[in-house]
Formats: sequence, C-alpha cells, structure tokens
Amino acid sequence: MNDLRKPLPLALAMLATLTLTACDPKTPKPADGPPKPPSAEPGPPQADDAPSEGGAEQEASEPLPPSPGDPVQPDAPPAPSPATFEHNPAGQLPSGQGSGYLDRTVWSPSMCWPLAEAGFANSQVYGAGGGMAPPGKTSQCDSMNYTLPWRDNFCEARSRSNPLCGSGTGHQGQDIRPATCKKNEHWAVATEAGTITDIGTYTVTLVAKTAPHYTYRYLHMQMTTLAVKEGDKVTAGQKLGKVSNDFGGTPTTIHLHFEMRAGVAGVTGDGKAVAVHTFLPPYLSLAEAYQRKLNGETCG
Ligand SMILES: [Zn+2]
Repeated sequence: MNDLRKPLPLALAMLATLTLTACDPKTPKPADGPPKPPSAEPGPPQADDAPSEGGAEQEASEPLPPSPGDPVQPDAPPAPSPATFEHNPAGQLPSGQGSGYLDRTVWSPSMCWPLAEAGFANSQVYGAGGGMAPPGKTSQCDSMNYTLPWRDNFCEARSRSNPLCGSGTGHQGQDIRPATCKKNEHWAVATEAGTITDIGTYTVTLVAKTAPHYTYRYLHMQMTTLAVKEGDKVTAGQKLGKVSNDFGGTPTTIHLHFEMRAGVAGVTGDGKAVAVHTFLPPYLSLAEAYQRKLNGETCG
C-alpha cells in the first residue's frame, strides 16, 4: 500500500508542471501556425512574427487544440460566398414530363446570360398557364413560374425532332420566364458577339463570331419592335428585342425559348461534305452565365 502511494506526490508535481506549461504564454502562438485568428472585419495585414498583444495572448489561454479524433473547427470564417441561386441538376425532369438529357457539359462556358435582368428557367408547357399545367394553375402569372429553383426542360416531352432525347423527339431548348409576368418589357440580349443571320415569324437567330460559332436562337420576342434586323453585327450583351409571347399565330405564354446549336462537319455516304446542326443542352451554360451575372461580372 505504502509503495503505491509513494509516487503520487511526484505525479502531482508533474501534472502541475504540465498545467503551467499549457498556460505559459511562451508556448507557440497560434499566429505562428497556418490558421489565422478570426477577424470580424478585414484590417491591414500583420506580419506573422510581429509582436502581438491581446489577441494572441487570449488565444494562448484558450482550450488546447482538439485531439486527432475531434472534429476540426475552422479558425477563420469562410470567404464570402458569391451570390448563388437555387437550380436543379441538369437533366432532372419531373416524372411524366419527358426523358431529360443528362449532360454535364457547359457547352458555351463564357457566353452572356441572354436577358438583361433576372429570369427563371422552367417549363412553359408544364408550368402554370401552360398546356399541361398542374390542376388549378391556370394563370401564367402564378408565382410558381417566377420562383426558384430553376429547372432544366431540354428533352421535355414534345413532338419536335431532337436526336439527343431518348425517344428521338423532345424540347429543343430551355424556357425562361423574364423577371416579371409582363410582355414587351424585359430585354433579351446577345449571348455572344456575332451576326443576326435570320429573323423568322417568331424567331431571331444569332451566329457567334468566335469558334465554334454556336447558333443561338431566341423565340417569342415582340417581333414588331425588334432592335435588330437580318445581317446586323451585334456585340455580346447587345439588346435584341423584348421578351413576349409571339408564336406566329396563337400566342404562347410570356417567355423566352432559348436554343443552342452547333455545326458538325461530316461527309455523306457518296463523299459530299455536309454540315449538320444539332441542338445542344443549354441549361448549364445558362446557369453559369447567370451565376456570373449575379457575381457582378459584366458581359461583353
Ligand atoms: Zn420552349
């Protein structure tokens, strides 16, 4: 019994020494290591070896660093995150509305957002006021059309040809509601510098100047008051016309239908050179362009 008690004073002394060491302000200061002390607001940068008062001393008396098993708490607050917006993944269509097309390619990684203001990517057919609207949702100005999240509607169930869609037919672009449910109010703008190659009864076609010379097609603008004509050279971000509901005859809902196409060079079976245009899924290019706009990046 006596033998067991004998080392106890020595152990206590060692413990006291360890405790003193832990509180000793001469121990390495947190400022010496990579983590930076939290700072409420940015100030002038401090040299790591500069004598510090207050903050560093307080840090030294804080609890010891966590053991390896403990979750590591970040010392510095995260960098301010840019404005973000909620958008569903590419190719994710609600059940019964078509196959969608799972594609993670940002085909046009530097294009401009095609509207001068905010917009809501969703479906004009399956949204409120559309031909396949949810029960009771008869007004195209219903808030469901003007709220986040965005959603992809490339390859939504349609009868138009689209070889990328599982059935061989499907929606050929992305529907976008303008900032408000008001026609002839919100500008559509050029996604890239290029040439207006065609103006149809309810379409405006822009071919980009820079390779790979994507073709962008804008549908349903106010065709009587367009800001461009065939043959015009436009700059990125230049106003083209205002979003409306023109559809050649019976109007559609107020929205911009936006398409991207790319030319692919090929050769026919009998040796003739041929250029084939195929629709590309524009959703992620639009999402990235919109994110850049939210971040305050200018276009053009
Ligand atoms: Zn459409």
